[in-house]
Amino acid sequence: MANETILIVEDEADIRELIRYNMEREGFKVFEASSAEEAQAVLKRTLPDLILLDLMLPGTDGFAFCRSLRAAERTAKIPVIMVTARDEDADIVAGLEVGADDYMTKPFSARILSARVRAVLRRRTAEPEDGSDVLTRGPLEIDRTHHAVKVDGKPVVLTLSEFKTLDLFMRRPGVVFSRYQIVDAVHGEDYPVTDRSVDVQIVGLRRKLGAYSDLIETVRGVGYRMRVE
Ligand code: CA
Repeated sequence: MANETILIVEDEADIRELIRYNMEREGFKVFEASSAEEAQAVLKRTLPDLILLDLMLPGTDGFAFCRSLRAAERTAKIPVIMVTARDEDADIVAGLEVGADDYMTKPFSARILSARVRAVLRRRTAEPEDGSDVLTRGPLEIDRTHHAVKVDGKPVVLTLSEFKTLDLFMRRPGVVFSRYQIVDAVHGEDYPVTDRSVDVQIVGLRRKLGAYSDLIETVRGVGYRMRVE
C-alpha cells in the first residue's frame, strides 16, 4: 500500500539506516528519530501509521515512550513494534504491558521485519470499531451483546472469564497477551491472581474450542495469542 508512513525510533544510526532502506524499498514513507524526544517532535508534525521503537534509547527509554504514546489520545492507537537487542522474556513482557503490539529482537532479517510490519498494519485495518457486537474469525463467532459463542455454528457455553478472554484474543488476533494483561481484561486491574489461574482458564477455554483448541497459542515465557489463519 502506497503512502503508509513509518516512524523509526532508533539511536544507532547504522541500524536506523538499514531499517529505513528496507522500509522505503517496501514503499513506505519513513520518518526517523534518534531519541524519544526527537520522536515526540516528529509526532507534533505528523501521525505515522506505525512506529518501530528501539527499547534502549538515550534519555527517555522505549518503555516510557510507549507508555506516553498510549496515554495521549492523539497517539494512543498508533501500532508500535518494539525492536530490541534484548531478547529476555521479561523485557518482551514489559514492552507488551506498556502497549506495544508486537516485538522483534535484533538481529533480524529484512524480510521478517517487513512481514511483521505488514501483519500489524493489516490487523489494524481488520479490527472492527469498538461497539461491533458480533465478530467472526474462522470457525469462531462471538456475540458481545448476548454473551454467546459459536464454534462451527454450534453454541458453546463459556464461563464469564473464558468469554472475556476469548473476546480479548478475537479482537486482536496475532497479538501476544501476557498473563497480567489477560487478568486485567477479565477482572479489571488490581485483581489478585496467579499466573497459574490464567493457565487453568486457558486449558478450559481450549477444551471448549474442541477441534480448534490450537487457535490459542502459547508463547513460551510471554503469554498467549490467537493464531492468525
Ligand atoms: Ca538502542
